[in-house]
Amino acid sequence: MPIRQLSETMINQIAAGEVIERPASVVKELVENALDAGARRIEVVTAGGGLSLIRVTDDGGGIAEPELALAVARHCTSKLSDDIHDIRSLGFRGEALPSIGSVARLSIRSRTAAGDSAAEIGIDGGHVSAVRPAAANRGTTVEVRDLFFATPARLKFMKGERAEATAITDVVKRIAVAFPAVRFTLAGSDRSTLELPAVTENDRLARVAQVMGAEFPDNALAIDAEREGVRLTGHVSIPSFTRANALLQYVYVNGRPVRDRLLAGAIRGAYADVLPRDRHAVTALFLELEPALVDVNVHPAKADVRFRDPGLVRGLIVGAIRAALAGAGIRPATTGAA
Ligand code: ADP
Ligand code: MG
Repeated sequence: MPIRQLSETMINQIAAGEVIERPASVVKELVENALDAGARRIEVVTAGGGLSLIRVTDDGGGIAEPELALAVARHCTSKLSDDIHDIRSLGFRGEALPSIGSVARLSIRSRTAAGDSAAEIGIDGGHVSAVRPAAANRGTTVEVRDLFFATPARLKFMKGERAEATAITDVVKRIAVAFPAVRFTLAGSDRSTLELPAVTENDRLARVAQVMGAEFPDNALAIDAEREGVRLTGHVSIPSFTRANALLQYVYVNGRPVRDRLLAGAIRGAYADVLPRDRHAVTALFLELEPALVDVNVHPAKADVRFRDPGLVRGLIVGAIRAALAGAGIRPATTGAA
């Protein structure tokens, strides 16, 4: 066969294969977009575990009508400056919307503060519709229906509505902890509902308690440490407040939720002497460092990160948690609070 250029839709579907693993990935991308747009209220509605419907509504800055077509075009973003090492927004690849639109039926309805009217665009299995006038308040509503209808092979990998709904709830909780001043609501067709009212700007612990449970603050130790310009803050649980899995270990790098083996390993190491292997601490830890010292462009889903100095970060986490445990009088071979 001769060499040919892939079609735009094929390229987007290949990208979707990496960025959009399951319905929760769509929710993550749309909620991140809402946050990047400065939203204070974000509403997520899903049906069928997100496979039949995901709708995210925000009150952010909106997209001007002439830019709607660009929003669904590949590699188009309003967020990246000219420096890949200086990323301050959650998005920057300009890939999410065209990817989702290539495997689902997506519509965007938006209105800017300056715009006197709203407009709407659709992209359906890669086919982009013309922009049409619509009615809406300031902000953006993105609706995704029939996820993976255009890629049936991926659809077969879905774990069932319950599991997908649970993954969606987890994604919203994780992001919400980093944005306590934003109100989040999640309504699913099953029992997966979530209401996280906005809390005072700096009261991260109040949002953590909404997500981790009201008992968490009474069972948590505050962390505040710094090493060579890398700052670590947040809370970790005492050894009597643990879980059978690490699902409630939340770690953020510059406000971005990450799942990283180095960070998970550091937490495990910090508790190694005070927790049995099958128990896991609950954490909400926030690392802040110069964007240039961490690479978030490792994987399209941006959950992995690479630190320029992994040893420094590991040492900071292990040292800070151990110091907090010791400060609370918690010593090896103690399983309860001292
Ligand atoms: P990225 O987030 O990497 O820029 P996306 O494909 O997710 O790429 O979005 C493309 C562009 O569409 C964004 O850069 C932004 O300008 C615009 N956009 C998407 N969602 C929203 C939203 N909820 N509010 C305002 N603008 C949005
Ligand atoms: Mg985005």
